[in-house]
Amino acid sequence: MNAAIEVTNLKYRYHDGSEALRGVSLRVAPGECVGVLGPNGSGKSTLLLHLNGILPEKLSADGAVRILGQSVSAENLETIRRQVGLVFQDPDDQLFCPTVEEDVAFGPMQLGLSEAQVKERVQKALAQVGLADFDRRATHHLSHGEKRRVCLAGVLACEPSVLVLDEPTSDLDPRGRREFKALLRQIPATKLIATHDLELVVELCSRAIVLDQGLVVAEGPVVELLNDEELMLAHGLERPHILRHHHPHHAENHTA
Ligand code: ADP
Ligand code: MG
Repeated sequence: MNAAIEVTNLKYRYHDGSEALRGVSLRVAPGECVGVLGPNGSGKSTLLLHLNGILPEKLSADGAVRILGQSVSAENLETIRRQVGLVFQDPDDQLFCPTVEEDVAFGPMQLGLSEAQVKERVQKALAQVGLADFDRRATHHLSHGEKRRVCLAGVLACEPSVLVLDEPTSDLDPRGRREFKALLRQIPATKLIATHDLELVVELCSRAIVLDQGLVVAEGPVVELLNDEELMLAHGLERPHILRHHHPHHAENHTA
């Protein structure tokens, strides 16, 4: 079976010369939820931006990034973007229409759906994120948490099979975080989530990948990986409190 996401030796250098990715390889199976961890500047966002071709891939014709077996390249960008929904780190980078309804409708409209279908998708997606009555609201007056949910609705309205989220719970309050996690849990898509929220990783992800300085430095089952305090500290992370009452051996039994 094709991997939902397959990245092979991906390298990326920004114009100013900073080497953000230095040969990243990873695979995510269909239906998996995988966390991407790593200190600030380790390349998480750069990696995520490659998954639907926002950053130009100037690599071999063979393609360093494949989605469901198809390489991300200029020729099939449209197909890739139907399959991959990317939620940016900063909602203000994603929202650009005056009202919530217009914003959430933008993606489905690009898919060439009829007006009635678009309307249906928008209503469904807004209900899914708990903002059913928000369609007429002005996007720039929303709270940060509401903006994040509108961004997610805009992506869900396109019904992607792969959902890519960049720090989805950063600067949400505890209730906002809890609600957002419950929401994510209900979405059946394959998920790749870059985050510093280790509770989210423990609760939602089966596997995690640690990036540091543009390289994958570790990967494995979440509990095993996050319990490795030495590894966590070496890469600017920490062993999450949520795991502290687990003895590692018991934890292994949980995941077995
Ligand atoms: P993370 O999301 O893990 O914090 P990023 O992917 O944003 O990491 O950044 C990886 C590296 O690339 C960092 O060294 C960062 O300074 C650099 N970088 C990120 N965006 C740009 C940009 N637009 N131009 C130049 N360098 C960038
Ligand atoms: Mg980032």
